[in-house]
Amino acid sequence: MTKPTFIIDCPWCKAKVAAEQEGIAEEKGWHPDDGVPHGERLYVGNCPRCRTPLAGESHQVDFEGIDAEEDRWSDIVRVFPKPARSFSSWRIPNVVTDSLNEADKCLQVGAYTAACAMLGRALEAVCRDILLPKNFDPDIPNSPLAPEKKIMLAEGIKKLKEAKHIDERLFAWSQELHAFRNMAAHPEDIVIPRQDVEDLQAFVYAIVEYIYDLTDRYEEFKARLVKNKSKK
Ligand SMILES: [Zn+2]
Repeated sequence: MTKPTFIIDCPWCKAKVAAEQEGIAEEKGWHPDDGVPHGERLYVGNCPRCRTPLAGESHQVDFEGIDAEEDRWSDIVRVFPKPARSFSSWRIPNVVTDSLNEADKCLQVGAYTAACAMLGRALEAVCRDILLPKNFDPDIPNSPLAPEKKIMLAEGIKKLKEAKHIDERLFAWSQELHAFRNMAAHPEDIVIPRQDVEDLQAFVYAIVEYIYDLTDRYEEFKARLVKNKSKK
């Protein structure tokens, strides 16, 4: 008897594969607060090519008898191995994290152009977060600190470098991302290879780690040194 399969991205084969399903866990119900239905599934199986164990999650998007004629589930997104990258700094704005997560999902389902657009969105959000005055409130129309215009990616990258938030190398990586983001954002007939998207993703991760996580860590490290010195 052949095993059932599910489609998932294998990070080692760098392709979508029909994993041989070994198990599935499912939970369905209604949200206690608003009564909205939900469904979650966790799939476990092996890559048919390299035998790596793979686990992926899917959530229900249509509900039979409630909002659709039949149940429908989202594409399966891998959670093991190599789950979506996470960062530790509390300073990272949600729009950055959300864009990075969405880029990773796009990458896993083979939507490489969309992944590039999302990576560009993440970096643009970093630029705005770092460069706009912190007490500026976009919801107050005549906020005294309102910038004259929003910071766009090209200008933002340059300013990050000028203010030494990033060095030459991160600046070069940012410029590559900017070029790909522009390609992705315009309706031209292009193919962006997976390898390029994976590289750009690694560059954006490095920039976010450098600007937020490592900077926080260094500040904490320095503060600890000063504290220990004063104890002696
Ligand atoms: Zn594989």
